[in-house]
Amino acid sequence: MKNNNENYKLRLAIQKSGRLHDDSMRLLKECGIDISNGVNKLKADATNFPIEVFFLRDDDIPQYVEDGVADIGFVGENVVFEKNKKVEIEEKLGFGKCRLSMAVQRNEVYENAYFLQNKKIATSYPVIVSNFLKTKGIEAEIHEISGSVEIAPGIGLADAICDLVSSGSTLFMNGLKEVEVIFESQAVLIKNNLLNEVQQQLLQRLIFRIQSVKKAKNNKYILLNAPNNKLDEIIGLLPGMKSPTVLPLATEGWSSVHSVLNENDFWNIIEQLKAAGAEGILVVPIEKMII
Ligand code: ATP
Ligand code: ZN
Repeated sequence: MKNNNENYKLRLAIQKSGRLHDDSMRLLKECGIDISNGVNKLKADATNFPIEVFFLRDDDIPQYVEDGVADIGFVGENVVFEKNKKVEIEEKLGFGKCRLSMAVQRNEVYENAYFLQNKKIATSYPVIVSNFLKTKGIEAEIHEISGSVEIAPGIGLADAICDLVSSGSTLFMNGLKEVEVIFESQAVLIKNNLLNEVQQQLLQRLIFRIQSVKKAKNNKYILLNAPNNKLDEIIGLLPGMKSPTVLPLATEGWSSVHSVLNENDFWNIIEQLKAAGAEGILVVPIEKMII
């Protein structure tokens, strides 16, 4: 039973240590939330937002959130799908990106997933793998192991593995090749289904901050000088939030143009701007973006 005080704050579960810990703490900091984190503590309070952080193993986070021991959690989507608990994914967090992939020994010929028919697959993700096999109509034996999955083919334990990959170097070092991506993952914010109204409002405030941080990361502020007779063409290349800011330069016939560029189109547009006559292009990171 929650006491009154607990009803007016959000209890957030994050990974205690591991690949998601530092980015989770960084995101909170970027959201302006200061955590007074003692070393080896199980939980810590924020000093300037009604949030309490629990430090847990990532595998346990969906269960804690389903049970309402924590109200929300930051955890890999891979873990959310594998654990299959009653929690809602509320927001993608933009870090912890990886993929769950099938890999086989480098000398195998793998043309498609039917290679796996009647084979033995070692994995820590039996639920996601069996869903994948089911949708393909493939029968295979899943051998669940909790760690060092990549050594299984080399010691004759399995014909294939399904494991998390980011660069692929671990697979390579173990004589394996990635042959099929079955799940793309990143860290997500999950929530319990029964948050009270105050907690819902706190969550909306937190999500608003997270979205501002994410947008800022995906965008760059750009300043450039343009001859006035090229302004229309240059402005036409810039998407910006509304329209770009155009300011006259001290030098007659020139203007300074300021705008915001999305990272995805970034190089493409920079090249076109240069070709259109833009000079002195400056690109500056954005800390927060409120729109
Ligand atoms: P814990 O001690 O909390 O159980 P763990 O060893 O299970 O930690 P980590 O290896 O720290 O987990 O990975 C945590 C999460 O980080 C993964 O579930 C996944 O969402 C994400 N991740 C991102 N890149 C990778 C990668 N290359 N390999 C493994 N996990 C990755
Ligand atoms: Zn884990």
